[in-house]
Parts: sequence; structure tokens; C-alpha cells
Amino acid sequence: MGILSNDLSALSSKNKSFLADNRRLFIGGQWVEATSGQTFPVYDPSSGLEITRAQSASPADVDRAVAAARQAYDVGPWSKTSPAERERLLWRLSDLLEKHADDLAQLESLDNGKPLAHARAIDLPLSINFLRYIAGFATKIHGRTFDLSVPYAPAARFSAYTRKEPVGVVGAIIPWNMPLLMAVWKLGPALAAGCTIILKPASDTPLTALRIGELVAEAGFPEGVVNIITGSGGMVGAAMVNHPSIDKIAFTGSTAVGKSIGRQSANTMKRISLELGGKSPVIVLDDADLNVTVPGVLLGIFANCGQVCAAGSRLYVQKSIYEPLMAALEQAAKSIKVGPGLDLATEMGPMVSATQRRTVAEYIASGLDEGAELVAGGRALEADGYYIEPTIFSNTNHAMRIVQEEIFGPVLSAQPFNDEEEAIKLANHSPFGLASSIYSTNNNRIQRLTPAIKAGTVWVNCHNIFDPALPFGGYKESGIGREMGEEVMNMYTEVKSVCMAYG
Ligand code: NAD
Repeated sequence: MGILSNDLSALSSKNKSFLADNRRLFIGGQWVEATSGQTFPVYDPSSGLEITRAQSASPADVDRAVAAARQAYDVGPWSKTSPAERERLLWRLSDLLEKHADDLAQLESLDNGKPLAHARAIDLPLSINFLRYIAGFATKIHGRTFDLSVPYAPAARFSAYTRKEPVGVVGAIIPWNMPLLMAVWKLGPALAAGCTIILKPASDTPLTALRIGELVAEAGFPEGVVNIITGSGGMVGAAMVNHPSIDKIAFTGSTAVGKSIGRQSANTMKRISLELGGKSPVIVLDDADLNVTVPGVLLGIFANCGQVCAAGSRLYVQKSIYEPLMAALEQAAKSIKVGPGLDLATEMGPMVSATQRRTVAEYIASGLDEGAELVAGGRALEADGYYIEPTIFSNTNHAMRIVQEEIFGPVLSAQPFNDEEEAIKLANHSPFGLASSIYSTNNNRIQRLTPAIKAGTVWVNCHNIFDPALPFGGYKESGIGREMGEEVMNMYTEVKSVCMAYG
């Protein structure tokens, strides 16, 4: 066991046997081998060691999964399943997640690198709560009625109404940062709406999605309603995006891939929802309570090792409190306990992959090259795993790549501002618009800033707070559409207008 590696003897017997068996694809209710006959390795980010292998699906497997999903949708039984039954099955799935929460949290921590304590306290409860919240929408999908005034048929009478219908077969493509939560954010609304789904997890983190496949079967979902396939984005993801029999792509991932999916989907006019990258601003006004601000800023950037789309990575602090706040953040960042995910004392784990660690290290080097002042961290730890220290740069500016580009790692860039007008200008000076936060004790100032920030979420005196009821999604290049809240149901339904003439 290398320095800072997970102690795998601590794994539950369920997880040990899950990993001992190479994983298969879940298609049409069966666990099958990929037609390619190929597999790929899955690594423990704390050690870089292979922990199991997953199947390399090919476009032929996408065809198989689409056929199963189409059959369950077009012919049945899913299209004939009542809303109440869909609601019951989603509740059953949430109960199974709860029953196996400890094992799932351990698997998520092992696969992604995140602290087990966080997987237990955040990823599992959020996933379970979300499934329960969204299950209820299955029985609450409704249209509206209309009284018409058709100018060219004044004597006729019409009964008019709208129906909301499922969008059809959904292809869901998800990233590696919160693999379980991202999976249920797609599965929940798709199934509640009456869609069938093909889910492709990221190659770095396929494990909890595959475990969900087992729980879907145990919950009693009919064959073909949920299909889970693993493989590369460039091959499997692209085959899904271009598949003529998939009606909608629900994608969470980078803005670059999201843009390319948007362009390709235009060929078939597939429905798309895109949850993409961010570079979220954190504005600290000079009346902020530092006892609230310091932990809020730290959670905003270092939670999940900075691998959060909404990470508060651009810090703007009003000049008079810049020095004391930076001193407090430096001290707090240096005391964060970095270690392997399965160690319950760990506060920040390794990055998900060697590639991601390299990318972040390159960004840190570019910050130094471009003249930013390093306040804390900045080093990749000398360990077999993919560790980077919690890093803070001071005196950054908007010409720097570390301020403009999404790093998706534990790197905070800070700079001072003079007044509210400048803070708004700086906050909005980004192609992204996913989230933001304001720290202040003055409600008038908060109310002035909130509408001025171009972002899908404004947190006040907090950051990275999620709830199933609150819609989440991006302005500008951070995406199209919303996850969670009742808004997400619009992403998985079409509206049909019905107009009936009567005598
Ligand atoms: P990524 O775009 O590289 O990959 C995301 C998924 O897309 C993976 O499953 C991948 O296999 C697949 N993929 C890759 N290339 C593809 C292609 N050409 N066609 C189809 N599918 C393809 O992103 P990532 O590095 O896995 O995740 C990090 C990104 O995700 C960050 O930019 C982050 O901000 C974003 N993210 C956004 C949200 C949100 O809700 N807005 C949430 C989590 C992560």
C-alpha cells in the first residue's frame, strides 16, 4: 500500500464481491458482455491501482440498448404503466438506495476519490431525497384547458386542452464528479415522466451507476426501461448523440462536449438538455460576517476537491477586508486534511484521475507564470494517488487563464474590488453563468446585487447548497435547461395541444 492509499481491507464484503467480478452492461434487463469483447480498467484515485474492469461498449451495444428501450417505450410495458406505478417503483428504488447507502457511499468514495464522510452525508442523502421528490411528479403531470376565440370560426365551439407526454427514449450522458447523484438526476425525471432511458456513466467512475442497475432490477422496473452501458465518450456517447431512435440527450459534462452535442443534435432535432461547466464568482462585501464567509468560501471551492460545476472559483473581496479575509483563508486552507477517501478523517481526497491532476497542475503553473501570487498549496503531493493541495492565488486578474477558464480542481483565484458596480462587472465577466454567491449582512446590498448577477443560482451567505426542490442550471455557456425542481419535468415531456370541435 503506497503513501496515502486507501486501505481496501476496509471495504464491505458486498463491495469486495462487486469489484471481484468484472462488470457487464445492463441491457434489456440482462447483464451482458460488450460485443467488442473489450474491457477497460477502473482505478482507485488514492493509489492509481486498478480495482476492477468495465465493458467497452461499441455502437453495436448502443443499438442493442436503444432497441430494448424502444421496445419498452413503444410497445410496452412502460408506456402502459400507470403514473402511480411509476411513482411506486421510484420510491422502491429510493428505499433500496437507502438500504444500501453505506455500501454505495463506500463504492462512490473508492471510485471517485471523494471523502467517504462526504459521500455518506451529501451524495447518498441528496440522491435518495431527490428520487423521492421526483417520484411524486409521476402522478402530477397535467395539461391545461383553454377557452378559444378563433376569429374565422366565430360560431363554432371548441374544447381545447394540452397534454404532457413523455419525450420518449432518453440517452443520458453523465460526468465523474458526483457519479451517483448525476445518475439519479437523469433517471428520476425520465422515469417519472414515462420515458425509458439509456445511461452512460463517465469511464473514470462507472461503478455506482452499474450498482444502480442491480437495484433497478431488484426494484422491479420492467426490462428495457433502464439500460446502463459503459465505454468511451468519443465512441459510445457519440453513438448515442447521433442515434436516430433516441429522442433526447440529457448531458452533464464539459462545455466543449456540450457544444458539440448541441451541434450534432441539430441533425435529428433531438431534444437536448445541457448542464455544463462553470466559473462561479463569490462576492464578499465589506460588511460580511467573516465567521460565515470563511467556511462558506472554503466549502465553495474545496468541496469534492473543487470538482463541482458550481465551485466558487473566482473570489472578489471588497478592498478594506481583502487582507484579513485572505489571511484567514490561507490559514484555513493549510489546515485541510488531505488523504484517501475511505479514511473517515479525510477532508479532501485525491482528484479523480491522473489526467485531471495533470490538468490542474498545468493551470497552477500557468497562474504562477502569469504573475498570480500563491497564498496556499500549489503542489501535487508526492504519492501514488492523484493528490493536489488546496490552492489559493491572490492578486489575480481577468487576463489570467486561471480566472477565465474552468479548472475543475481545488484552485481559488482572488482579487479585490472597490464598489458594488465593479463587483458586478467582474462577476459577469465570464462566458459561464452557472452559479454565484454573495456574502454580506446588508439586505439592501444583497437585493441590489442578486438580479444583476447573470447566473442560474445566487447563494447568499452560503455556497454549494442543493435541494431537490430548487432548480439548478446555467445561464450563458453553462448550459440549456434545468435539473431538479418542477422545472426538470419540462425537460422530459413534450406538450401536445388538442382542439376538439363540438356541436
Ligand atoms: P466531459 O464532457 O469530458 O464528459 C462528460 C461525459 O460525456 C462523460 O460520460 C464522457 O464519457 C462523455 N463524452 C465525452 N466526449 C463525448 C462525446 N464526444 N460525445 C458524447 N459524449 C461524450 O466532462 P467531464 O470531464 O467528465 O466532467 C467535468 C465537466 O462536467 C465540467 O466541465 C463540469 O463543470 C461539468 N459538470 C456540470 C454539471 C452541471 O450540473 N452543470 C455537473 C457536474 C459536472
